[in-house]
Amino acid sequence: MKRGSCLCGRVHYETEAEFGPATACHCSQCRKITGSYSVAAPVPQNSLVLSGEPRWLVSSPGTRRGFCPECGSYLFWEEGDGLTWVSLGTVDGPTGTRLENHIFCAYKGDYHDLTDTVPHYREGWSSEEIE
Ligand SMILES: [Zn+2]
Ligand SMILES: [Zn+2]
Repeated sequence: MKRGSCLCGRVHYETEAEFGPATACHCSQCRKITGSYSVAAPVPQNSLVLSGEPRWLVSSPGTRRGFCPECGSYLFWEEGDGLTWVSLGTVDGPTGTRLENHIFCAYKGDYHDLTDTVPHYREGWSSEEIE
């Protein structure tokens, strides 16, 4: 069982599923909502048990982001395909997954470099890779 929570503890979640491979997203929406970039991994939406209701923000058509209405922790991202992407910084304990790629690197902040060895995609998954 994997468990996680927001900073203030109002929103908790648990899932019996294993996290899929993690992605770092540097798009402008993820930059704004996290303060830098998001690192998240997917689980089946129907495996996720919530306690404490997140606030959901429709951030683009068909896409919503869940965060704690009290402390603002950014917890979830969904785009209606049956998966919930969980912000890995909110997991309590081991995640059991690894970061496998960065996406929307064309929009990353100029204050850091991407020095790991996983693929760095210019736009979405399977777009052109950049160094
Ligand atoms: Zn909270
Ligand atoms: Zn993003």
